[in-house]
Amino acid sequence: MLRDLHVAIIGAGMSGILAAIKLREAGIADVRIYEKADALGGTWRDNTYPGLACDVPSHLYTYSFAPNPDWSQRYSPGVEIRAYLERTAQDYGVDALIEYGAEVTHLAWEAPSDRGWRITLASGREERADCVIAATGFLHHPNVPSLEGAETFAGAMFHSARWDHGVPLDGARVGIIGTGSTAVQLVTALSERVAALSLFQRTAQWVLPGKNKRYSQAERDGFRRDPSALATLRGQLEANWVANLADALSDADSEAMAVIEQTCLEHLENAVTDEDLRARLRPSYRAGCKRLVVGEGFYEALQRPNARLVTAGIDRLVPDGVVTADGELHGLDVVVLATGFRTRDYILPTLVRGSAGSLLSDVWAGSPHAYQTVSVPGFPNFFMLVGPHSPVGNFPVISIAELQMDYILQLLERLRTESLVGLSATSAATTHFNEVLLEGARKTIWATGCQGWTAQDELGRPAVWPLSIDRFREAMQVPRFEDFEVLR
Ligand code: NAP
Repeated sequence: MLRDLHVAIIGAGMSGILAAIKLREAGIADVRIYEKADALGGTWRDNTYPGLACDVPSHLYTYSFAPNPDWSQRYSPGVEIRAYLERTAQDYGVDALIEYGAEVTHLAWEAPSDRGWRITLASGREERADCVIAATGFLHHPNVPSLEGAETFAGAMFHSARWDHGVPLDGARVGIIGTGSTAVQLVTALSERVAALSLFQRTAQWVLPGKNKRYSQAERDGFRRDPSALATLRGQLEANWVANLADALSDADSEAMAVIEQTCLEHLENAVTDEDLRARLRPSYRAGCKRLVVGEGFYEALQRPNARLVTAGIDRLVPDGVVTADGELHGLDVVVLATGFRTRDYILPTLVRGSAGSLLSDVWAGSPHAYQTVSVPGFPNFFMLVGPHSPVGNFPVISIAELQMDYILQLLERLRTESLVGLSATSAATTHFNEVLLEGARKTIWATGCQGWTAQDELGRPAVWPLSIDRFREAMQVPRFEDFEVLR
């Protein structure tokens, strides 16, 4: 007889919705999604900034089982992605499984009692589950720098993922701090609208030109009539993306990597006419070392007469704006912190207590790690989607989550068919896995000397998958059950 499983999913973003759909398909009906916010969509709910889009082609940033003939563009805007996630959750009936306003503050493994995981919500309510799937993503804790004098600033200031739509931008003097994908999209979208735009750059970024394309109504109708044409397009996009971008990053000496670097360099040299501006925009590290920015129109936007690149460091904020280290006051009405996320927190600050009473935050000790990206020794039946070392750099994260979920389902199947109490990776297997990653990391572009969230941590552990995508597919195909500790 199959063991009955109750599975709790934390987070109703892209991967949480995926997990619920896949669990139900696998015959696991007892599923609940805990979501701290009041709507689904994860990072696509939190981010609403002007110019928000996905810089991975939309037909790749799509669940494989729910193709979408209606993407308007090759790189579709964020609102379409959010609507797609909402529609898919409804179509598959998993929106009804979501409990909103349900922030999970504690998770504690208490087996051998029934339903090993005790789940405590911010309200104090307690629930139980046999398995927990942490689908919290990694772009959900805004990184808010502490800037001297911030509280004195008389204008509006907010993080890009907490956009205040009540603040007028037309005719305003806007300062953007940061030069990641978010800032690049913001500059491109805002420069024509605002009176003055200042981009505060601490580190220059390489920008890979990503020409956007609109899908005509006729093309979209064609995709609807002929799903095989859509599948063919996805296949072509994926093959191209993997060979020319994702896999290139894992081999710093590859030919494809050299092509990326040359393309970024030519983009800068051809698009920026002023020599001094070009020099200040030219990074001193290799393209791809920081998460590669993909887009078009950024350099053009920055060369508009009302836009300015500020490379002097930020000294402090004052009521009128930002004062830089060279003493200049940059008068501003609005400051946007496009300063990214605390990407290494994953499910933290939720207190996750494992079988030996240890906290996940202590086990990780600032260096998050997980066997095969999904399991942590001593944390039975606790599985992560898009967890540590996942291939998330410039690869479609939906495909990654799908592969991880197929892997997790095989573990759950073992729990059900053999009526096991718990499964978690062994320490030995995790150590070995970390060694393989460490060895692989040496060859990657992320090891070539830059700061940023794709870089290795202090222990050398790679934040992102350092091997090829094929190696990841291989790793996710069939679990090696001998690498798991079994609780009976
Ligand atoms: P990010 O890539 O982490 O960039 C943050 C920027 O803020 C960096 O330029 C950083 O400078 C700067 N910064 C941080 N603290 C600062 C401080 N105290 N003073 C001055 N500058 C500071 O963040 P993001 O652009 O929000 O992107 C985060 C991730 O979201 C991306 O890597 C990407 O995966 C994803 N994203 C994707 C898309 C998409 O289209 N798919 C769009 C937006 C975001 P340093 O480089 O010097 O640290």
